[in-house]
Amino acid sequence: MQQKISNYNFAGKKALVRVDFNVPIQDGKITDDTRIRGALPTLKLILGQGGSLILMSHMGKPKGKKKPELSLSQIVDAVSAALGTPVKFAPDCADASEAAAALKPGEVLLLENLRYYPEEEGKPVGIDKEDPAYDEAKKAMKASQKEFAKKLASYGDCYVNDAFGTAHRKHASTAVIADYFDAENKMLGLLMEKEVNAVDAVLGNIKRPFIAIMGGSKVSSKIGIIENLLGKVDKLILCGGMTYTFAKAHGGEIGKSIVELDKLDVALGVEELAKKNGVELFLAPDAVCGDDFSNDANQKICPANNIPDGWEGMDAGPEARKIFANAIKGCKTILWNGPAGVFEFDNFCGGSRAIGEAIAEATAEGAFSLIGGGDSVACVNKFGLADKVSYISTGGGALLEAIEGKTLPGIAAICGE
Ligand code: AMP
Repeated sequence: MQQKISNYNFAGKKALVRVDFNVPIQDGKITDDTRIRGALPTLKLILGQGGSLILMSHMGKPKGKKKPELSLSQIVDAVSAALGTPVKFAPDCADASEAAAALKPGEVLLLENLRYYPEEEGKPVGIDKEDPAYDEAKKAMKASQKEFAKKLASYGDCYVNDAFGTAHRKHASTAVIADYFDAENKMLGLLMEKEVNAVDAVLGNIKRPFIAIMGGSKVSSKIGIIENLLGKVDKLILCGGMTYTFAKAHGGEIGKSIVELDKLDVALGVEELAKKNGVELFLAPDAVCGDDFSNDANQKICPANNIPDGWEGMDAGPEARKIFANAIKGCKTILWNGPAGVFEFDNFCGGSRAIGEAIAEATAEGAFSLIGGGDSVACVNKFGLADKVSYISTGGGALLEAIEGKTLPGIAAICGE
């Protein structure tokens, strides 16, 4: 039987918790602590019952190297403040047995960045995939990954995975480690449960019409999910930088807009599949263009397929905004991933704002809206709409893979396939 965190008694137990404390840091300061706050319900539940915490996380991509700028020591004070209790720090995550053993009920130990060890990700380093010795190196790495996971597992009496953002990775601390705990002593954390429930709310019982809004810079990075969604949604808005790959595929003039010239056939394929599946596809007919990739660029509204040389499409135009808002109106299930323009520039964020506002209105009328992926989350925060949507996911890639119907290794390791 799969263990539930709400049924577990943490009193006197050392809980080894995989959190996602991969927070953005600038000049030694955390610029967004959403991820720390996201883990608090689980952490407070455990401490409140008289358990102790051993927290493990990665930060950034040190690729197996001990990079000081990616040290989790930088967040000790912030985690202490968030938990309201001092947090001890283990400077070597693979050598923390003593510190873990010394923990008393109610105490907290944070381990150093797991990715300082290549074993966390389990990919051989310093060897090319083409190298004839690669397979051997990979096998050796998988074996040492198991040892690394076993070592981490030895610190705790039970294992809680609350890191949805990395649930689509089969890493030592997210999946392999679960093998060293019996079913009774491993479970999803509260944040993870919420994320799984949000995905179920979208996929398990789809209320129609179901619309997906996919934006961002490129079609290539999202083609898998776009094709998959075309089998599920009633309507699909494709916006952001990918607009111009579609316009180009139809022979449009797109100036210096972002484009993937090797993906023109992919764009046409998406249109064909949408038609075949009876999905209404919405693309921006017009664009707010700039003569420079900057907030202060001169602006001009152009048809998305007739942008003059020297100009680039940087946001959805006024006509597009109306069409998008109309498409969203009345929908009962809404998924948003990726902005409609370069929303980071205040002068080019109007298209993304229009989408956010239309989603908020539809939500007020009873739709379930799920926002996922760093940039769309940043959008709803920027526009003050965070409490007007149904659920904001902490996962980008993990959310999209879950929506695609893929089994996430981090969840499968606890709940089974
Ligand atoms: P992605 O990482 O693919 O989800 O893309 C997100 C990024 O796409 C954001 O940083 C946006 O600024 C960028 N983006 C959106 N629309 C455009 C556009 N028309 N031209 C260039 N970049 C864009």
